[in-house]
Amino acid sequence: AHLDRIEAVDATLNAFLHVDRDAALAAAAAADDEIAAGTVRGPLAGVPVAIKDNIATRDLPTSCASRILEGWRPPYDATVVRRLRDAGLVPLGKTNLDEFAMGGSNENSAFGPVRNPWDASRVPGGSSGGSAAATAAGEAPLALGSDTGGSIRQPGAFTGIVGVKPTYGTVSRYGLVAFSSSLDQIGSFGRSVLDAALLHEVIGGHDPNDQTSIDAPLPPVVEAAYAGARGDLAGVRVGVVRELSGEGNQPGVLAAFTDAVRVLTDLGADVVEVDCPSFTYAVPAYYLIAPSEASSNLARFDAMRYGLRVGDDGSHSTDEVMSLTREAGFGPEVKRRIMIGTHALSAGAYDALYGRAQKARTLIVRDFAAAFEQCDVLVSPTVPVTAFPIGERVDDPVAMYLADLCTVPTNLAGNAALSVPCGVSADDGLPVGLQIMAPALADDRAYRVAAAYE
Ligand code: GLN
Repeated sequence: AHLDRIEAVDATLNAFLHVDRDAALAAAAAADDEIAAGTVRGPLAGVPVAIKDNIATRDLPTSCASRILEGWRPPYDATVVRRLRDAGLVPLGKTNLDEFAMGGSNENSAFGPVRNPWDASRVPGGSSGGSAAATAAGEAPLALGSDTGGSIRQPGAFTGIVGVKPTYGTVSRYGLVAFSSSLDQIGSFGRSVLDAALLHEVIGGHDPNDQTSIDAPLPPVVEAAYAGARGDLAGVRVGVVRELSGEGNQPGVLAAFTDAVRVLTDLGADVVEVDCPSFTYAVPAYYLIAPSEASSNLARFDAMRYGLRVGDDGSHSTDEVMSLTREAGFGPEVKRRIMIGTHALSAGAYDALYGRAQKARTLIVRDFAAAFEQCDVLVSPTVPVTAFPIGERVDDPVAMYLADLCTVPTNLAGNAALSVPCGVSADDGLPVGLQIMAPALADDRAYRVAAAYE
């Protein structure tokens, strides 16, 4: 049914870069046989899943929506993909994204933009726009994305589905093509809180192949989704982050958010306002730290190891082949970030730019710590705006970056956050997301509140 749905709508949406029809049918048949034999591997055995194309899949293309990796087939599965297969899930294919996950609209893909299923003239958000659109449009019931500065939560909000950024270190990054290693986190998309939790439980947990993996039990996210569904938030302390929940939001977004806070109060939560003054530094700090790490991580695309090689005709030096390949293989946003990051890390600029951004990061960590002394979870709109028209912001990168205001603090601090649909904006009828943030290793709190709200 999902393959048929992809056939019917994906020519318009462009959510998939590669669909693995035969392998999906074979994996589904194998799961059916196990179910018939009574040897079901887990609650999601036989359920299809879409995978963002920056996550390595053995023998399947993994392009990061970049010309530089076009045609590359990894020799191994990312840990999350291996866990999906072991749990009997059925990979459907690889989804479109902003090139190397750099963007917030999915317009930076080398293989064309993804369209929002609610209104095909609008963006689905990014960078995991393909995974979000596929889940929202019923092409896949579940999907994996990656979130470095909001790339699961923001497209989740723009397409009206649940998107989760787990605590840093609780879902393995082994096999995720690195963008900004200290911020990147794989997470789940679903059309309900429980769906997202079930997928989260399959992919999460310690992995010795990831040096930053935390050796601790995964927070009980599925249990929390069930507990929350009883709809009782008595005694739960919810903090509304003042810096993220005011005038900078579109009126329709703010109205939907205010309604959501009222619902939380009705469910018994104690709602207070909290200040996180350093969050105003989050976007500038993020847009120095993320490009700095990216400029280093992307040095590996040197025409020697993977994918594209340009000018290898005997008439060019090795250095020339490298620069011709990078010139042809990377798109404009990726080049912009390599330039910013290389500059921020250079001897003359390091203290004023990269060093100062790291200090701002520490202040943001402290703001979260102080806020979580008063509150169990924090809330804000997920994005200050709704899905915007394709093309509207492509010439204004700073406007695009500023829309990440609410999501980047969590990546800088490493704690957990998710986005749950909270109705539509009265301005344009498009979906709005409620962001629920929890302390590190307390992801279950966000799930509990989200399930109660939903
Ligand atoms: N929009 C942010 C950026 O462009 C976030 C990207 C992400 O989370 N991968 O960097």
